[in-house]
Amino acid sequence: MSAPDATYFRKGFGLKQDVEATLTADYSGRVVDLLRVHDYRLTVGDVTVRLAREFGFCYGVERAVEYAYQTRHKFPDRRVFLVGEIIHNPHVNQRLRDMGIEILMPGPAGFDYGTVTPEDVVILPAFGVTMADFQTLRAKGCVVVDTTCGSVLNVWKRVEAYARDGFTALIHGKYYHEETRATASQVDKFPGGTYLVVRNMDEARDVTEYLAGRGDRAAFLAKYARAASAHFDPDVHLQRIGVANQTTMLARESLAIGEFVGTAMAAIHGEEYRAANFRTFDTICSATQDRQDAVNALLLDPPDVMLVIGGYNSSNTISLAALCAEKVRMFHVEDALGIDPARGTIQSRDPISGQTMETSEWLGRGPVTVGLTAGASTPNNKIGDAVVRVFATRGIDPATLG
Ligand code: SF4
Repeated sequence: MSAPDATYFRKGFGLKQDVEATLTADYSGRVVDLLRVHDYRLTVGDVTVRLAREFGFCYGVERAVEYAYQTRHKFPDRRVFLVGEIIHNPHVNQRLRDMGIEILMPGPAGFDYGTVTPEDVVILPAFGVTMADFQTLRAKGCVVVDTTCGSVLNVWKRVEAYARDGFTALIHGKYYHEETRATASQVDKFPGGTYLVVRNMDEARDVTEYLAGRGDRAAFLAKYARAASAHFDPDVHLQRIGVANQTTMLARESLAIGEFVGTAMAAIHGEEYRAANFRTFDTICSATQDRQDAVNALLLDPPDVMLVIGGYNSSNTISLAALCAEKVRMFHVEDALGIDPARGTIQSRDPISGQTMETSEWLGRGPVTVGLTAGASTPNNKIGDAVVRVFATRGIDPATLG
C-alpha cells in the first residue's frame, strides 16, 4: 500500500468544528433567518420582500470557504496562498486576506508562482485550476489544498472522456472564466485533445453554419482564437463533437445549444453520423439549477421589482439576472451598498449590455413587492443587508424587522 500523500488535501483537515463558529459569525444573517421563518416573505408598511426559496451560497462554495478557514487554522505559521479568488464575492475574499491568506491574481501570462516555496500552502478555488497550474504547483512540493467542487470535477470527467475518444469538447461557457479555463484544459490529458468554447446560441450557430459548409475558415479562427485549443482547425475538429458546459450557465440555454448542434449535425450528415459523432450531457450543477428553478417559481407571481445580488463577474448571478430581466423590472446589484436609502437610488448592471447605471426612485411610489435572489457566492449576511436597505429606502427602520 502506498503512503498517503502528505502534501495534497481534497477533503479538508477534519477541523470543521474548530472553524464553524467563525464561519457563522462571518456569513450567517438574522434577516435571512427571519425571512425563512416567515415563509420567505416579509411585509412591513407598504413594502413586501419575497425571497426565492433557493439562493445564495451553494454547497461547493460553502465547502471551499470552510476548507480555506480550516487551512488557516491548520497552518497558523505558514504562508498561505490562494490561486485567484476563492469565489466571486469581494467580502469573502477580503475576509480571507484579513486572515493573512494572500490571493494570487493572474497577469496577462497567467499566474506567477515564482514566490511559492515548498514550505508554503496553496489553496485551489472551487472553480478549479488549469492542468498546467496544477502540475506547476505539485512540482513545487508545497502543500496543496484542493477545494475544486465535485460538480466541476464531473464536467472534467466528461471533457476528459471526449478528448480520450477523439471528440472536440464544445463547452457552453465564457472562455475567460476560471472554471471554463480549467475545464477546457482537461483535454490536454490526451494528445490532440481539442476544445472550443461558445458563449451563447449565436456562437453555436457559427458552429452549425460551418458544419453546413457556410463558414469562413479564417474568420472562424480569428473569432475563436482565444476560445479554442491552439491547434483547433474547424475543418478537422468539428467532425466529432461532445457538448459540455460551465456549471453556472443558464441551464435552458445549455440544453438548447446541445440540442441545436446535434440536430444540425443530423440534418447535414444523417442520424447515423450523429449517433456516432455527437454526444451531449447536461453538466449544469444542481445548485445552479435549483436557484434558477426557484427564481422561475417566484416569477410565477411576478413581483413589481426583482433584486438580484451577487458579483458582477459571477456567472451564476448573471444567469439569474438574465432570467428575471425577461419577466420583470430587474436590478442586479453587486452588493447591498449599491442600494442608497438616503438618496433613494440603486447602482446596478444590465446582464445583457454589461452597462452599470444608477437609477433613482427605483421602488416607485405606493405599495411595492420586491422579489429577491442571490448568486451562489453571496453570503446570507450580505443578502440581509440588502433587505434592510430596501426597507430603509421607504423609511422603514430595520429594527422593526422581526
Ligand atoms: S455553482 Fe455549482 S459547480 Fe460552482 S461551486 Fe457551486 S455547486 Fe459547485
